[in-house]
Amino acid sequence: SVVVFLEHSEHDAGPAGPAAGAGSGVGSGLRLRVADPRLPALLVTDQGATRGDGVFETMTAVATAGPTDATGHRVRKEDSHLERLASSAGALQIPIPPAETWRRAATAGLQAFAQGSPGADAVVKLVATRGPEGAPGGGHYVRDAAGVGPLPGTYWVLVSPVSEGMAGARERGLKVLLLDRGFDSGIAERAPWLLMGTKSLSYAVNMAALRHAASQGADDVIFTSSDGKVLEGPTSTVLLARRIPQPDGTERVELITPLRSSGILPGTSQGTIFAAAAQSGWALGYGPLEPADLFDADAVWLVSSVRMVAPVTHLDGEELPQDAGLTEQLNAFLAEDLAPGDHGPNG
Ligand code: PLP
Repeated sequence: SVVVFLEHSEHDAGPAGPAAGAGSGVGSGLRLRVADPRLPALLVTDQGATRGDGVFETMTAVATAGPTDATGHRVRKEDSHLERLASSAGALQIPIPPAETWRRAATAGLQAFAQGSPGADAVVKLVATRGPEGAPGGGHYVRDAAGVGPLPGTYWVLVSPVSEGMAGARERGLKVLLLDRGFDSGIAERAPWLLMGTKSLSYAVNMAALRHAASQGADDVIFTSSDGKVLEGPTSTVLLARRIPQPDGTERVELITPLRSSGILPGTSQGTIFAAAAQSGWALGYGPLEPADLFDADAVWLVSSVRMVAPVTHLDGEELPQDAGLTEQLNAFLAEDLAPGDHGPNG
């Protein structure tokens, strides 16, 4: 693995140093520092570590064996991830470097990674924290005459190998438990401070739900709201399909995902799959969904960037129908890597 820090160089750190002015793009004064992630690097006062006060993204990079680019990678859905990072950071009011700086950092990390693991696919994790306690502005936006001063947060990109377990989960499918998340489906709008639907670093609850599922012999979780709506997995988006018979004897596939306004993260995999499905003439639907819709569906999946499309084989111990053909089709849609268009309320 390789880590790339996005940081101010010594001489321009601090409020008195030359600011990365608004005109040149916030954060354009940052330099990239490639480092070994096994070495300590974070201050013990970093609010990302002490409070989970930060945001992240997890993307995948596919090794491309082009003749001129033998150790190159193509990052999947990079624009969607960078847009979601900016939107999560906006929700937490954490200033972050511009997309172009993250892109350069990811490229630098992938180049270093490819030297140690040529031809290997990679997981690329982007992290931005509010920074150390006592950072300029206390971790809030720092304004000076030129616009926004030095960025107060801590920013890095971690590039690591894809874990072996991911393909296994895709092939075997998932035994899933429905677990109550304890919020109703209107909470995101009423209580924005709960940061529903943002990819914040505060994932301890999500990880605890996965451990609970494991203690019951299950592989994964689908959260429900206190008013009984289907939400999302702790690290994935729920999709279901229905085969709708047509008057002419053919079938049309309808692909449905829960409503984003119910307080879930807008999935980049879901967005990409829906864009390709729309082009193939599939009907697209958006919740509200209830557990009965999952039990009645012709197939249910959990989708995410690293594990991709994993079929749900069991829900609360009950076997669900499988559809290998549709699973293959969804993986093909994901591989098309289309930019998500404006498809319905989650678009
Ligand atoms: N929902 C949650 C809560 C997640 O953490 C994730 C990804 O980790 C997803 C959905 C799936 O998002 P994506 O398809 O962008 O990986």
